[in-house]
Amino acid sequence: MHERIEKLRETLAEDLKSAADLKELEAMRVRYLGKKGEVTLLMRKMGEVPAEERPFFGKLLNELKKSAEGLFDNRKAELESKDAANRWERERIDVTLPGRSFSVGRKHPITLVLEEIEEIFTCMGFKIAEGPDVELDYYNFEALNMPPEHPARDMQDSFYINPEVLLRTHTSPVEVRTMEAQAPELPVRIISPGKVYRRDDDVTHSPMFHQVEGLVVDRGITFADLKGTLLMFAREMFGKDREIRLRPSFFPFTEPSAEVDISCIVCNGKGCRVCGGTGWLEILGSGMSHPHVLRVSGYDPEEVTGYAFGMGVERIAMLKYGIDDIRLFYTNDLRMLSQR
Ligand SMILES: [Zn+2]
Repeated sequence: MHERIEKLRETLAEDLKSAADLKELEAMRVRYLGKKGEVTLLMRKMGEVPAEERPFFGKLLNELKKSAEGLFDNRKAELESKDAANRWERERIDVTLPGRSFSVGRKHPITLVLEEIEEIFTCMGFKIAEGPDVELDYYNFEALNMPPEHPARDMQDSFYINPEVLLRTHTSPVEVRTMEAQAPELPVRIISPGKVYRRDDDVTHSPMFHQVEGLVVDRGITFADLKGTLLMFAREMFGKDREIRLRPSFFPFTEPSAEVDISCIVCNGKGCRVCGGTGWLEILGSGMSHPHVLRVSGYDPEEVTGYAFGMGVERIAMLKYGIDDIRLFYTNDLRMLSQR
């Protein structure tokens, strides 16, 4: 018995040194001091020892158990401080390293221009109205004074879904939809931004692009109101020195109609490559609402008058940012989109 106790004392001391980490140490503790551990088993064997020797071996075993517990505690503390030191090494942060930057998205140029246009007009008292992209032929053409076979339909090569339904070729259908919903209330004063679709595809045309429609209907609205509003818009959008010029034009749903130019934002009207030497840049189409359009929408053209305009958002963004190919807006090239 004496030998066994001494042997256990030695192997325990030896084993303890070899414990490399806390996990190994815990396994070792169970092996020696656990319920079925070697020290515990030895204590159970006390029954086999002659009665007169029991106090002696009992004392010896208790000492062994105590010292073993002490040794385990010491080794545990040792391993713990080692582990903490390793952990410090492992998780050390070099605060002098530059931070990792992450890329922040920004708004698309078309969105920026749309928001700016909306802001300018809402500040002038316009409300924002919306209409469907998939539109009835009636609203896209017929109500706008373009009956079937009207030659003006040829100006807008369209995507038809069936003979009565198409992707809208302009935002003008929203004029009729808005007036229908509001008649006979006055005034009507809306802009309508949105996507439109035509069978075009070159450096200045895309099969999908954005327009902003404008419509004002009230008693006594004149061409002067149209011109004043557009001059205000041009100056807010392109700078306070802008001038505008109205040229006679034709649209089936306005009469009279006018194309609107702004003085060139590059040469200020002297003439340059951007404006083709004329000093003017075309930005939108406009006119006084045609009596037919007012009538089918529920207003009496003898009582009220109105004006309307429509502008291409891409065209304005191209002018504003100096972009010469409309397709750059849709190719998701970050080299272009991330420029300010
Ligand atoms: Zn110019």
